[in-house]
Amino acid sequence: PGRRLPLPDADDEIRALASALNALLARRDEATDRLRRFTGDAAHELRSPVASIRVQAEVAVAHPDPELSQEVLAEVVHESQRLSVLVDGLLTLARSDAGELPPAEPVDLAAAAAAAVRRCPEDGPTVQLHLPPTACWVSAAPSEVELVLDNLLRNAFRHARAHVTVTVLPGNRTGRLVVDDDGHGIAAEHRQRVFDRFYRVQDDRARSSGGTGLGLALVAEVVRRRGGAVGVTESPEGGARFQVAWRAAADG
Ligand code: ADP
Repeated sequence: PGRRLPLPDADDEIRALASALNALLARRDEATDRLRRFTGDAAHELRSPVASIRVQAEVAVAHPDPELSQEVLAEVVHESQRLSVLVDGLLTLARSDAGELPPAEPVDLAAAAAAAVRRCPEDGPTVQLHLPPTACWVSAAPSEVELVLDNLLRNAFRHARAHVTVTVLPGNRTGRLVVDDDGHGIAAEHRQRVFDRFYRVQDDRARSSGGTGLGLALVAEVVRRRGGAVGVTESPEGGARFQVAWRAAADG
């Protein structure tokens, strides 16, 4: 813990002032710690794809065998893609931390969900889409809604056994998105932490499948910045249920 002002016992006003300043100092220390941890974690995460690309490229240079080169190049492409996703994610978080948000506008969550489902690969689990009969206007940037949908669907696809369900629920004050899968779910002790930056339940699995540990942190960041909420519980389908609520927008 950093330095704190002593609390003199003479004057109530000065005491109150000193303790208010101490509270501010404590908040500043926490923010500094968080930033330090984030920078360290980010560097650590960037290291592994960069090291892998470097080693693969060195192998290819040392052994000019066309068959091996193809294999090596495929691995380099895979790791470069992971690196791009990671860097894009870090940039989005940095902008958001700096308070730079794209302008909010009414976004139709129902249309966005339908479009995101159309982007899903066809050979994966089956997807059921439950949409309201009318549009579901929420207040956000279109890119944020897309980020949330793509990340939650990608995770659901990665973890589902056979089935994913996407539901859009309009309300008076909020528009909600629910993504269910029938996978192994997330144990209760991990549920809060999966929204932390770089947190993974199973490290190796997430890495080899191209995960960055930033997907859900980005989801939580862009939603909370707009006054919305995110959460994960157990799905009635057996796996994980991710829920997101945005503020409803007045109209389209
Ligand atoms: P990653 O890119 O590594 O998947 P995320 O932030 O998207 O990172 O997810 C964090 C962790 O939460 C993952 O490592 C994974 O273990 C767990 N997780 C996310 N979605 C699901 C899901 N639908 N079912 C089970 N576990 C999940």
